[in-house]
Amino acid sequence: MDDAGVIEGGDVLVTGETIAEVGRGLAVPDGTAEIDASGGILMPGMVDTHRHMWQTALRGLGADWTLTQYFVFYYLNWGRIFRPEDIHAGNTLSAIEAVDAGVTTTVDWSHGLQTVEHGEAAADALRSAPGRFVLAYGNLLGAPWEWTNSPEFRGFVERFGTPDDMLGLQLAFDVTGDPEFPEKAAFEAARDLGLRVTTHAGVWGATNDESIRLMWEGGFMTPGTTYVHAATLTQDSYQRIAASGGSVSVSTESEQSAGQGYPPSWELRRHGIPVSLSMDTSVWWSADLFSAMRATLSADRSREHLEAHSRGDTVVHNRLRAEEVVRWATIGGARALGLDSVIGSLTPGKKADLVLIKNDDAPALYPLLHPYGSVVYQAGRGDVHTVLVNGRVVKHEHRLVGADLAGAKEAVGRTVEYARSTMGEEAWQDSITPELPAAERIPNPYTYTDFDGGDERHRAQRQET
Ligand SMILES: [Zn+2]
Repeated sequence: MDDAGVIEGGDVLVTGETIAEVGRGLAVPDGTAEIDASGGILMPGMVDTHRHMWQTALRGLGADWTLTQYFVFYYLNWGRIFRPEDIHAGNTLSAIEAVDAGVTTTVDWSHGLQTVEHGEAAADALRSAPGRFVLAYGNLLGAPWEWTNSPEFRGFVERFGTPDDMLGLQLAFDVTGDPEFPEKAAFEAARDLGLRVTTHAGVWGATNDESIRLMWEGGFMTPGTTYVHAATLTQDSYQRIAASGGSVSVSTESEQSAGQGYPPSWELRRHGIPVSLSMDTSVWWSADLFSAMRATLSADRSREHLEAHSRGDTVVHNRLRAEEVVRWATIGGARALGLDSVIGSLTPGKKADLVLIKNDDAPALYPLLHPYGSVVYQAGRGDVHTVLVNGRVVKHEHRLVGADLAGAKEAVGRTVEYARSTMGEEAWQDSITPELPAAERIPNPYTYTDFDGGDERHRAQRQET
């Protein structure tokens, strides 16, 4: 993902934490361990710029939720029952999952931190997990202008120490668009503390152009700001984001299913806004950045076709290429975090975060004719053969190295048991199976009976069942 582009038959030499050399036929210093990457693709570790890692503890529970049901579940009803150990459990499993899937850097958009003890648990989990992380500290049960300025939170920041490239620190909160702009004090706290802000922006029904305008007029749209989703905004807001140098974290699977707005990469490209990718939360969908790349490329192309069809045109050239989406998943994420001089490409001098995609026992990666196309459309998590983070091998030959997966699963099991018993069986089951409204069927003139109409016998039978 740097100017050297694709190097066929290349070698990468790692010394300590660092990529020492990249090229063909490199000399192998004595004592070097060799990993055979032939038949595979060695790429930079992927970067997920927005994942609510604590929610991995209830993986898959909300597969059929709407965004409203998500808000009701976490914000109104059950977010408050999560204890520090539950945050720790979710984060730990999510962290192991990330590196297993080739995601070497993850922003933990951690908005379940209702006390600093929860915050310590989140940070502890990330410190002991085998990956590179940014803790984006948030609290969905509190007011950001209050908790960011509380002595407890300031104490947490002091104890956290100096953020580094293995564990960074940001502030995570949303701007509701209240004309009083109470979030101003939270932005001022971020500025005082020297922390970047990540915010869910352009979310249908929740945050909108007013939020962007207030941030702009307050002078808080800094280049380091990440706008998550940014899917329901007008051109004016996109232009403010572009002009201020901020970037957008696109969560296509989330936007397609939860309805924050149409996945915005097609708009962002037109405005020259830098893009990174994210998976949002495993309570609904996967934590799989291959899936993010595939969904994003497909959604972007879908939109181009729809726009063209609405003009009576046909798309004859695809503007968005597989290479660009791989860029968003790697160096794009690194740039969004200000880490592009450290990670995001296989460049000598950068930290060695490497992913080897290789699966000799499966047909899907042969032949390798278009490496970017193979990464986006052919490869999956199961093809991640080897992963290095900061020069350390954390996965090799499809097996995790040095991660306590069994312990992480046990801890999540305890959280599931606790959540289920605290919620009660009815609420638990209702959460998994949200209400299903009656299906609307369009009357079909080619059938003998009107589906919802005059056939009394048919209707009586349906009522019996
Ligand atoms: Zn989110």
